[in-house]
Amino acid sequence: MFCRVFSAAVCGVDPQLVSVEVDVAGGLPAFHMVGLPSSEVREAKERVMRALENSGFEVPSRRITINLSPANIRKNGAGFDLPIAAALLGALGYIDPESVSETMFVGELSLDGSALPVNGILPIAVFARENKIKRLLIPEKNGFEGAYVSGLEIFTVSSLTGFVRDLKSRSLKRVEQADLERMLEENYRSNLLDFRDVRGQESAKRATMIAAAGFHNLLYVGPPGAGKSLMAARIPSIIRRLSPDECLEVSKIYSVAGLLKDETLVANRPFRAPHHSISSAALIGGSANPRPGEVTLAHKGVLFLDEAAEFKKDTIEVLRQPLEEKRIVINRANYRAVFPADFMLVMAANPCKCGYYPDRNLCHCTDLEVRKYFGKIKGPVLDRIDICVAVEKLNVEDFSDKVSEMDSEHMRKNVELAHRVQEERFRKETIHFNAQMNNQQIETYCFMQDSAKKILDQAYNKYNLSARGYYKIIKVARTIADLEESGEIRKEHILEAVGYRNHLMD
Ligand SMILES: [Zn+2]
Repeated sequence: MFCRVFSAAVCGVDPQLVSVEVDVAGGLPAFHMVGLPSSEVREAKERVMRALENSGFEVPSRRITINLSPANIRKNGAGFDLPIAAALLGALGYIDPESVSETMFVGELSLDGSALPVNGILPIAVFARENKIKRLLIPEKNGFEGAYVSGLEIFTVSSLTGFVRDLKSRSLKRVEQADLERMLEENYRSNLLDFRDVRGQESAKRATMIAAAGFHNLLYVGPPGAGKSLMAARIPSIIRRLSPDECLEVSKIYSVAGLLKDETLVANRPFRAPHHSISSAALIGGSANPRPGEVTLAHKGVLFLDEAAEFKKDTIEVLRQPLEEKRIVINRANYRAVFPADFMLVMAANPCKCGYYPDRNLCHCTDLEVRKYFGKIKGPVLDRIDICVAVEKLNVEDFSDKVSEMDSEHMRKNVELAHRVQEERFRKETIHFNAQMNNQQIETYCFMQDSAKKILDQAYNKYNLSARGYYKIIKVARTIADLEESGEIRKEHILEAVGYRNHLMD
């Protein structure tokens, strides 16, 4: 007898259709699995056979052939246990092959026949819908991921015996649809930190708001303990909440990484702050089984590198590709994986080794030492920083009870206003934010008053700016003007933007 079901292999965050065929024939007893399975899939054979036996299904000694096709795609993980078992049950006549013919299965089996959750169910469910698969069967513990995907029937399986029983009696447990919009509303801000808690630092907060408004990459420079990481961690609270589509996009990544928590999807923009000892591979993803790296886990959110000068040079260098292409492409001999990586880069650095430059009462570093320290983050990354802001040590008066009006709500309203302005501006372009403008687009969209242009030219000469630095000032000034809904860039906008260039950046 022959039986075929569908399954899916996830490479990167993109599933591919796999058909699982089982043929049981007479002849010498044998068990073949073909279709270039990885070692994990070969282990599936053992698990599936024990699971079937322990669930009371007898597997006769006959010639069993299992084919996972197409053969040329990589198939990882234990998610093929369930489809193999289901197809085998069909081929052995325990279930009607017809009843599972248009069905996709994903799930691991334990030796006693119970279905165990696997990573990547959310992208698979979305993929199944897009590919007009009628039914998807997933392990019970993955059920919540299916709840947010409509347009196909999704059922959960808790064990092989339960599956056979419920399939026959047509009482498979259907996943109840959940309202994504409502989930976002309920969970948004439930654990977001607020800028209200940051004392003083009004100018650094303003710079942060500008950065979020134009999606500019940001660098905080200041002594230890001044509040750099406090502020960075609050940036997700000033960007509008994720749309349902963005939520699915981000949650797919977390599903693949096995990081969906509390049986719900990701409701807030991610904030990732890897330690400076992180390896390049962990930062951008990859390894033998491609896993999302920190840049991908920060997709649609913030990647924060604290103590940026302490990161290894090679580690910082690998950020070049995601910063330019907004994605990571991993090419290996036997697979190619693409991970999205569209994040706002925020870095923090001490101004020098001791941390107190330019306070010469405390800092005794030489100018050369200061340059050298900063030089560690120079090059490809500092090149891409648009806004550099000094975070000063707090003064006594900052500890007063005076409430700052720069709380997250106030800042978010401004950021949202600037986002609407940019949406309108770039409606015919492929970009969304001022930071993404190329020189041509800068010419088209950045009208400057004469007095503003004059100041910019003076700054160019005075600070010996690079062409890149020159254009960055215009882009940041464009965002500052957007925050005031000013069509033209005025001289105060340029002046403020010039102030966000650190002399070490050019
Ligand atoms: Zn120093």
